Amino acid sequence: MPQTPALLRVLTVVSAGILPLVGAGCRTSDTAAEPSAAGSPASSTVPALDAPVDAPADASLDAGGPVEPAEVARVEPQVTPDQAPVAATSGPAHGTHAGSEPAPAPASSQASGTSIAAAAAWEWSVIGSSREGRAIEATTFGSGPLRVYIVGNIHGDEIEGLGTMDVLPWILGHGPVGALATTRIVRDVNPDGTAARTRGNAAGRDLNRNWPATNFMPRASTGPAPLSEPETETLHEDLVAVDPHLVIVFHSSPRGPFVNYDGPAVGIAAAFVDAAIASESRWTLVPDMGYPTPGSLGSYVGVDRQVPILTIEFRRGQSPELVLAAAVEGVTAAVERATLAK
Ligand SMILES: [Zn+2]
Repeated sequence: MPQTPALLRVLTVVSAGILPLVGAGCRTSDTAAEPSAAGSPASSTVPALDAPVDAPADASLDAGGPVEPAEVARVEPQVTPDQAPVAATSGPAHGTHAGSEPAPAPASSQASGTSIAAAAAWEWSVIGSSREGRAIEATTFGSGPLRVYIVGNIHGDEIEGLGTMDVLPWILGHGPVGALATTRIVRDVNPDGTAARTRGNAAGRDLNRNWPATNFMPRASTGPAPLSEPETETLHEDLVAVDPHLVIVFHSSPRGPFVNYDGPAVGIAAAFVDAAIASESRWTLVPDMGYPTPGSLGSYVGVDRQVPILTIEFRRGQSPELVLAAAVEGVTAAVERATLAK
C-alpha cells in the first residue's frame, strides 16, 4: 500500500503515541442481519469488490490489541475493547463535561506519552444509560460555527469506528475541524450490544430502525414504537438539543469501505470518500444501500428533516490504523465541504 501524504499525516500522529490499543473485528455481517434483505441486497447498487468478504475471526476482539506497525510507539493499553464503553468514565473525570478545548496533557507525561495521556484523559459525560444500565457517553469539542454530530457506534457487532473514539476527539480538535465546527460525539449509543457483540440492544432491537421517521415499521426487531428504546430516546434528546448541520454515523460492513448518505449530502459524502481514498483506495460512494431501511437515522435525519447525514461503513476487520486514518481525513474533508455549503 502506498503511503500517501494523508496517511502519513495520520501515522505521524499515531507514531506520537496516541493510537488506542483497541482491537477490531466482528462476528456477523451487517447485511446478514438486515431483516428484509435476506442477506442479499441488490447487487447492482453494491460496489464490486476485488477481495472476498473477510469478516475476521473473533480472535482479534480478545487479543488485547491490534498488530501495530513498527513505527507506532508501544504503550500499555489504557482500555481494552470490553472495557472501552465504561472505563473512560472511571476516576475524577466521571460525569463531567469536557470544555470546548482539547484536554491538556498531564504534567507527568513521558516524552512520547504526552499525547497518549492527553487522549486518554479526554473527558466524556454521561447522557443516559442503556437497558442494562451501561453509560451512554458524549463529549463536545471545537469552537466553529458548524454544528457536527458524530455517533461512534450504533450496531454492537460493527465496532471498527468505536476503536477510534479514544483519540478521535483529540486529533480532530487539534486540526481544522476544531476551528470550523463545534462537534458533538456520542461514543457508543449501544453499549449493551457492544458488550454482547450483537447488532441490536439487549432487547434485540435494531437501534438504527427505531427512529420516528415517516417510514418507521413496528416489528420485533425495530420496536413497538419509535424511540421505544432507552438508547434511542437518549440519542434523540441529545440530537435535537444540538440541532446539527451535519450528522455522521460509524458502521462497518464486509462490503466496505464505503459511504452512504441521506438528505442533501452527496457533495459532503463525496468529499469524505475522496479524502478517505488517500488512506485506502477501495473507499466508494454508495447512494443506495440496496435494501429498505425504515425507521433508520438516515430516514429520520436525512430524508424527513433534510439534514445531511453520512453512514460511514468501514471495512469489517479493517486495521485500526486505516480506520483511524479514514475517520480523520474523511471527517475533516466532510466538515470542510459542509462549511463551504453552509
Ligand atoms: Zn450498521
